[in-house]
Amino acid sequence: MTSLRDARPARDASHASGFARLAPSAAASAGGRALAAAIQQFDAAADHLSLEPGLRQVLRSPQREVTVRFPVTLDDGSVQVLTGYRVQHNIARGPAKGGLRYHPQTDMDDVRALAMWMTWKCALVDVPFGGAKGGVAVDPAKMSSNELEAVTRRLASELEGVIGPDSDIPAPDVGTNAQTMAWIMDTISMHRGYSVPGVVTGKPIALGGSQGRADATGQGVLYTIEDAARRIGLDLRGATVAVQGFGNVGEAAARLLHAAGARVVAITDVYGGVMDDLGIDVPNLKRHVEEHGSVAGAPGTREVTNEQLFALPVDVLVLAALEGQITAANAGSVRARILAEAANGPVSPDADPILRENGVVVIPDILCNAGGVIVSYLEWAQNRAALAWTLDEVNERLQRQILAAAEAVSARADADDIDPRLAAHAIAVERVAQATALRGLYP
Ligand code: NAD
Repeated sequence: MTSLRDARPARDASHASGFARLAPSAAASAGGRALAAAIQQFDAAADHLSLEPGLRQVLRSPQREVTVRFPVTLDDGSVQVLTGYRVQHNIARGPAKGGLRYHPQTDMDDVRALAMWMTWKCALVDVPFGGAKGGVAVDPAKMSSNELEAVTRRLASELEGVIGPDSDIPAPDVGTNAQTMAWIMDTISMHRGYSVPGVVTGKPIALGGSQGRADATGQGVLYTIEDAARRIGLDLRGATVAVQGFGNVGEAAARLLHAAGARVVAITDVYGGVMDDLGIDVPNLKRHVEEHGSVAGAPGTREVTNEQLFALPVDVLVLAALEGQITAANAGSVRARILAEAANGPVSPDADPILRENGVVVIPDILCNAGGVIVSYLEWAQNRAALAWTLDEVNERLQRQILAAAEAVSARADADDIDPRLAAHAIAVERVAQATALRGLYP
């Protein structure tokens, strides 16, 4: 049995004290709700595994939290002080790994929740990483490219003692992209005096990025939807799909589903939404977004809101925007057969029983969107070995690894008679608990 007792008896058997330390500081904020959801999901898995109290406390608490406040000079010459966060939740299985988010609502609780989910995601798909996340409370849509470069380079400098190819490896997330990673890689490389490609993943291919990384999360979303569809006897060709979010993940997922023959009938972004019962031409929509900055108003479509999109009688609903979109208040309106959690934490724990009751098959986030971290791992491995694999090689490995995890989740759900989210968390928490117990407590 997995236990820390062999290494050191747990001094405080009450996991309530672990919760006290991690209690969301602002329960009403989106970040506070995300952290409460992450803790609730962890507790359910820990209960299911009868995890011993010492291990439970260790795995519930982020190992390292860094807050930085730094000034940047804006284009108009004024100075703004920004707040950035980096949280390493657990590194028992390897270096910390996780995205970097630029969003005005980013706060410490949000980053704690996302870091914890990264730990479970990496363990579930069996990549040799722990979990981390970072963020800056800033709205990138209101900043010029020069300002974003200044923010990113200063943040990379502030975090220099924390991030690195063997310690903590950022990647793109909401509001960041391959260019952001290029600036971080260049800043760290300038400071060291030599190129350090492995400090970030999701880099441009010209700088040691991997083939397939830009689409990897969306590609993994497609593979897990195909898997779920196969299990319920749904043919994806001609199946109807609605997608919330049209960024790094949502655009790729919509485009790849469209290419696989599915009919994408509705898409929303932060500015609005579009709908066409006959099916949206996703590549055309992408061109519209490049010109106009939003899906809203694309020719040949009619308007749709998020709430309308959630309630559409589609075969597949893909949530690829932010946390906490489906709650107890609107879960009852979801009529999709499959709900794919392409975003992190898009369904709150109080919505889960309602979706289950209504027969909606939920592909849990730590499985559904794990394609990104799988190909991040492949990018990091290529950087370390100075190799460059082809797109086919990358996608083949991605598919093999994510489908192995999907199969493990399905088998565990059947064996323990539990839902896929609990099964996914049980597998992941068990693996991290085992690694933690094997390492023992230092000193
Ligand atoms: P992004 O910033 O590229 O795109 C986010 C999209 O969501 C944008 O189209 C934005 O307009 C839209 N959006 C924001 N608020 C919305 C709202 N209220 N209603 C409708 N749309 C809204 O971000 P991303 O990288 O695509 O990340 C999306 C989600 O996927 C996040 O939860 C992120 O943590 C998760 N994720 C991302 C990656 C990755 O590789 N980028 C990997 C795993 C998970």
